[in-house]
Amino acid sequence: MEPSDQFTTYQVLQRHGVDRRDFLKFCTQSAAALGLSAAFVPKVVAAMETKPRIPVLWLHGLECTCCSESFIRSSHPIAQDILLNMVSLDYDDTLQAAAGFQVEEIRRKIMKDYKGQYLLAVEGNAPTKDGGVYCTVGGESFLKVLQETAADAKAIVAWGSCASNGCIQAARPNPTGAMPVRKLITGKPIINVPGCPPIAEVMTGVLTYILTFDALPELDRQGRPKMFYGQRLHDKCYRRAFFDSGQFVEAWDDEGARKGWCLYKMGCRGPTTFNSCSTFKWNCGQGWPVNSGNPCIGCAEDNFWDNGPFYQRLSNVVVPGIDSTPDQIGKTLTVIAGVGVGAHLITMAARKQASKLKTPEDGPGQAGEKE
Ligand code: SF4
Ligand code: SF4
Repeated sequence: MEPSDQFTTYQVLQRHGVDRRDFLKFCTQSAAALGLSAAFVPKVVAAMETKPRIPVLWLHGLECTCCSESFIRSSHPIAQDILLNMVSLDYDDTLQAAAGFQVEEIRRKIMKDYKGQYLLAVEGNAPTKDGGVYCTVGGESFLKVLQETAADAKAIVAWGSCASNGCIQAARPNPTGAMPVRKLITGKPIINVPGCPPIAEVMTGVLTYILTFDALPELDRQGRPKMFYGQRLHDKCYRRAFFDSGQFVEAWDDEGARKGWCLYKMGCRGPTTFNSCSTFKWNCGQGWPVNSGNPCIGCAEDNFWDNGPFYQRLSNVVVPGIDSTPDQIGKTLTVIAGVGVGAHLITMAARKQASKLKTPEDGPGQAGEKE
């Protein structure tokens, strides 16, 4: 790993054999993922061609490394190249080949040479009990390393639920006093990119936005980029029609499960979870948990481990535009369906009666027509 350089993303990609066609394709896909019109594609291209790569220091605290796994296993090959080349990843104690005091020196050198310019990426959180002894890096507590590295960062990206909201480490009873980045660092812009892990395309999108516009994306009240966390999974879920019509899976292997009905009653958190899983999906856009018949467990929301047991349905989910919970909808629809069936039978009986009254002069296919 080389210390930060002044190469642009495109120059580095060229060195890695990425041709211009693939590069432009990636820029177009990135602009679309950011919700930008085609008119913005040249802006994305220009940024990647002309702006020096952002120096990034990537720290790892209490975590399982699933964010890095997601990041380096992006579905699209060109996206994967971009991910690893669009930033100047100067320190990453999981990916770097070097170890020991030399790499800690590189971290401090980047902090000094790029004061106020580097991006601090944080994966995992920091235990605060007993002086932070439950997670140490290079002989220092991770808490200290985090605070030291954050001091001169331009901005901080908190990757994943651990860094954004604490995840399982901070769930009750939180024996190590684990805390997410935003509770430990003040006075710095912090972008939370939660998910366990976050989607690779979302991670790329956040970096592309920062590189293209030299600004941070608009954030919601949990500090998440609105462009990726602005909609509930439920809004784009392909099972939504079943939710709306009150058709729910009631047991893992029931008829509804086989028919792919809505998983709300099996504990799906889609109605209250803001993320892009139902849009970008996972594994080359092949699917997401709901595709496999598993409910969303709401990993992109604050305190999701403490928000009641998984696989237990949410109570009182309000459906926009309808003043009912899904249970009420189900009951109402049962009644409506009953009324509908009744009405259908009455109609059929009336038609039968009418057909008996018709004469042959009424024309073919009418009198006495078969049902
Ligand atoms: S409750 Fe879950 S499965 Fe049902 S429509 Fe919403 S997101 Fe999809
Ligand atoms: S489907 Fe739900 S639990 Fe799964 S990654 Fe998306 S937000 Fe997290």
